[in-house]
Amino acid sequence: MPSPTTPLVVITSTRAVLTHPDDSLFLTPATISINPETGKIASVTSSVLPSSAFPEGTVYVDHSPKLLLPGLVDAHVHLNEPGRTEWEGFDTGTKAAASGGVTTVIDMPLNAIPPTTTVQGFQEKLAAAEGQCWVDVGFYGGVIPGNADQLLPLVEMGVRGFKGFLIESGVDEFPCISSTDVELAMSTLKDTHTTLMFHAEMLPPITDSVGDAVQVSEPPLAPHGMLSEYQTFLQSRPPAFETYAVSEILALASVCPNLHLHIVHLSAIECIPMLREARAKGINITAETCFHYLALAAEEVEKGDTRHKCCPPIRGKTNQDILWSELAAEDSCIRTVVSDHSPCTPELKLLPDHLAPREPHLPHSDSGVDVSGPAATIDDIIDDSKTVPLTGDFFAAWGGISSVGMGLPILYTEAERRREMGEQAPGILDMVRLCCQETSKQVGLSHKKGALKAGWDADICVFDDAMGWSLTPGDMRWKNRCSPWEGKQFRGRVVQTWLRGGKVKFWRLIFAPIPSGEPSTLHDGMIRIGAISGDGRNSNPALIPAGDWTNLPYMHVYFSDPGQFVSEKQNATTLEMGKMERPHCQRCFWIKVLGFPS
Ligand SMILES: [Zn+2]
Ligand SMILES: [Zn+2]
Repeated sequence: MPSPTTPLVVITSTRAVLTHPDDSLFLTPATISINPETGKIASVTSSVLPSSAFPEGTVYVDHSPKLLLPGLVDAHVHLNEPGRTEWEGFDTGTKAAASGGVTTVIDMPLNAIPPTTTVQGFQEKLAAAEGQCWVDVGFYGGVIPGNADQLLPLVEMGVRGFKGFLIESGVDEFPCISSTDVELAMSTLKDTHTTLMFHAEMLPPITDSVGDAVQVSEPPLAPHGMLSEYQTFLQSRPPAFETYAVSEILALASVCPNLHLHIVHLSAIECIPMLREARAKGINITAETCFHYLALAAEEVEKGDTRHKCCPPIRGKTNQDILWSELAAEDSCIRTVVSDHSPCTPELKLLPDHLAPREPHLPHSDSGVDVSGPAATIDDIIDDSKTVPLTGDFFAAWGGISSVGMGLPILYTEAERRREMGEQAPGILDMVRLCCQETSKQVGLSHKKGALKAGWDADICVFDDAMGWSLTPGDMRWKNRCSPWEGKQFRGRVVQTWLRGGKVKFWRLIFAPIPSGEPSTLHDGMIRIGAISGDGRNSNPALIPAGDWTNLPYMHVYFSDPGQFVSEKQNATTLEMGKMERPHCQRCFWIKVLGFPS
């Protein structure tokens, strides 16, 4: 119970998105009370209770008619620290997340130096994050050639999944993997409860495209048009890059029938039938798409506007329409929508003057891209153009879009626009499913994130869906204020963000006195259960029917305090526990459930 000095916090509204016991979502009036000691939701009532229903001194906030949503879990963010901190960092990247209702971000293993491909790299990453995070942070590990022996130790350390590239990533320290490496990673991870994810672009065997030269800023081999025209770039990375990569992954999937496979940032709709067919055959594979593929379109990218460059590329409007209909489809293969927030310094974007940010920024170093020498304008092209990067050159510009914290307004605005055109589009419940519930599941945090439920972390996003606004550089919280979303009109804005019961964002201010985000590792009391079918790999045991438990001969669990398991799970009466033979971890145990109260 909270002590008399720490008042209960109660948040209420006539509209909130809550979760039924079967995980379906519903819109309802709600009153959420928060235990300020634990930062957990103490109770949820599906009506608006008056302040008089609570003890004197309770902090009571009525947000009616704004929407109360679970804090978003953005499962794909590049924070680039340590090593490329001038691109982004834990402080600025997590502030940007908090400003848009995102209460958990999962950091990608590349673009920081060192990358998260070794135990030591992960330790350096955790050290860099310490005391800097305004929201909770989890970390992915990377698969690169030759690091197979690091994968299981990284699982033990608590990475939320792994990412490998099937095409050059653009940074030397994170090389792409061959099919042999993919197979080795699959067989190494096949019995673990993690996710193996792929940047699914791959050079088809016969192509006259510029291919992987795109990201290493080498002069294009065979461009079909001006380098400052978006269409030239788009044609250099056709859907075949994605379908070829997906077919390669599917061809190997039988190596690891139980491992969750996942395609990050899916752009080409041609992959959808392939993934659907694979899922129908029982292959455990999902995909995510990104806000920019859903609301930016190739037809609208102006000449030289390299803020739109990312890989795979933003495609045309027809592609976008089909991504939207897949999101709404029954058993969609696209389970989540993420930002792929991947900033760099503005000079690496080679922006034409009229698009360049107007504020000074730190010089970059160690960027992986040679931008030494003055940038010339496209009009300056003369015959020595090969050595001078040109502004507006989509091939030489660094790929990546800054948008962490913008997801909800982007999705909401575009969905509303589509609805007004008479099209079907996901509603707010779907957005919570795609950006909170399923993303938390994807990264193994659904036992405490992604839902407004008693016992879950009190991570709350207050969304004013009636507010119209447009994104100014001052609204951008990430380090380099450069984004294709600048100046765009939005409907709906996050007005408050609460992290584990503390307010971190209030209107435009980052409100918390100190950064209170926590790095997430396996050993934070979380329980992982083996051999549960479907999406239950990280389910909260309290939600699993007793029958399912008793059918499991053993469970492999990790926890920080051996006493915690028993006290949390009173419904399992008889437990047998033993130490796992895990050299990397002192906190891995096995548990056998022997019985339940009748
Ligand atoms: Zn990628
Ligand atoms: Zn990425």
